[in-house]
Amino acid sequence: MPDHSTPLIATIVVGLGLAFAFGLAAQRLRISPLVGYLLAGVAVGPFTPGFVANAALASELAEIGVILLMFAVGLHFSWRDLVSVGAIAIPGAIVQIAVASVLGLGLAMLLGWGLAAGMVFGLALSVASTVVLVRALQERRLMDTERGRIAVGWLVVEDLAMVLALVLLPALAGATMAGAVAPGNLLVTLGLTFGKVALFGVVMLVVGRRAIPALLHYVAHTGSRELFRLAVYVIALGVAFGAAKLFGVSFALGAFFAGMVLSESKLSQRAAEEALPLRDAFAVLFFVSVGMLFDPTVLLRDPLGVIATVLIIVVGKSVAAYGIVRAFGHGHRTALTISASLAQIGEFSFILAGLGVALNMLPPEGRDLVLAGAILSILVNPLLFLVIEKKLPAAARSPVPPPAKPAPAPADAGHEVVVGYGRVGALVGKRLAAAGRKVVVIEAGEDAAAAARSDGARVITGNAADPEVLAEADLAGARRIFVAIPEAFEAGQVVQQARAAQPALEILARADSEDAVEHLTRLGATLTVMGEREIAHRMLERALARGAHRPGPAH
Ligand code: AMP
Repeated sequence: MPDHSTPLIATIVVGLGLAFAFGLAAQRLRISPLVGYLLAGVAVGPFTPGFVANAALASELAEIGVILLMFAVGLHFSWRDLVSVGAIAIPGAIVQIAVASVLGLGLAMLLGWGLAAGMVFGLALSVASTVVLVRALQERRLMDTERGRIAVGWLVVEDLAMVLALVLLPALAGATMAGAVAPGNLLVTLGLTFGKVALFGVVMLVVGRRAIPALLHYVAHTGSRELFRLAVYVIALGVAFGAAKLFGVSFALGAFFAGMVLSESKLSQRAAEEALPLRDAFAVLFFVSVGMLFDPTVLLRDPLGVIATVLIIVVGKSVAAYGIVRAFGHGHRTALTISASLAQIGEFSFILAGLGVALNMLPPEGRDLVLAGAILSILVNPLLFLVIEKKLPAAARSPVPPPAKPAPAPADAGHEVVVGYGRVGALVGKRLAAAGRKVVVIEAGEDAAAAARSDGARVITGNAADPEVLAEADLAGARRIFVAIPEAFEAGQVVQQARAAQPALEILARADSEDAVEHLTRLGATLTVMGEREIAHRMLERALARGAHRPGPAH
């Protein structure tokens, strides 16, 4: 085995490799790849024969996955969203935690573990896994729905509660050990924890909210994509790490906040998200590391305990969540989605159970049951969604956007600058050249630059968002500029600089979303053309001009 000298590489390679193989197999069997990832973890775990990966490394790698994932979730979540779902998410999470805790406590009592053990066990069963929830919502495109937002807000509240629990547990253990409860100490610990979380929130909302987007914009302005990507990783990992070390907040929560302060600028949000290709690989390692902790013999040693634990997680918590969502006046569909999203447990439960065992509050069987409950509840989670989806009709499609405004077209002397010589830019450049215009192309890609050159244009190679590159196109003397690149964040940089270079310049920009249209227009584009809208327009033009045989759809 090559893993003695390079345990990190071995863990990544074997973990990803097996996860890929098992995930593919699961997909072919039409079950969720998550199941495959978990089983891959069991296979490389210490309880099964053969290769054993380094569990400590695996769980740290998994933590990176949690950070990147929560950062991305934060990117889709504004402070306003959080406040708007707070009214239901806060009481919902509290009631659900209470119900799960009481049920867990009851089971612990039946198993003869005592009160402290029961409390830890119950709490461990009450908090859902971020990764599982986010993946479930993303796969079903529910992330941007109201139901999705409530579920994420709910999870954030649960996360906060667990941060408190993790801090309070040692204090509580000390108190029960000494035989005397010291409410003073407990209150101090509680106050301190609340204080730190609040301080972190304030720092993020006051300083982070300005500094983080400003940093990203600054980096984007340098025109280096590599540095931009690096900045995104540094922000996500750095804030999460700092939050954990300085404020005692969980990595997940820290990353979530970092993403959230970026979410206010829709385009930096999108740009940041595109810079996160590593996220999914690390999220997969999360499942592998969970699988590694699992000792399958617990299924034989304590089958009734396992069944009861799973029932608490899957049925008990769901019923509580469903009840409270309905009590708040939301519909059946919303209640079902939220219940299903939260009917599982994950990373926090392992941490809590591990701490409980370390503090002698929870017997090791308790941790085994939590793990079994986690694995099994994650396994059945996709089935829950399947059941709901069968019961509910698909969501309505969004309507076709209205046609774009017609283009004004003044013209005088000067050259034409085309930014990006791809599917859009090449068409523009060729026609302009054919019409005898002087064309200057700015293109980052080698092949596209060569094509532009052979079409007769003067070509500047490089990232057009870079002021030095853009300056070479001599915008002050240009007749107009076509910003024909797909990425709105960079396009915005180009438009802004072009407008500054020449106030009267005609700037024609390409956009791929309503947000991009708004952004580019605000930065000074004369005309912003949205591809999707034009496509719809042409399709409708044909459909409606042909004289329909039957009544068409209401555009
Ligand atoms: P397409 O999406 O097919 O229109 O291709 C877009 C073209 O624009 C590709 O050839 C890219 O290399 C090029 N491109 C994208 N971003 C930039 C940029 N910031 N600066 C220069 N060229 C770019």
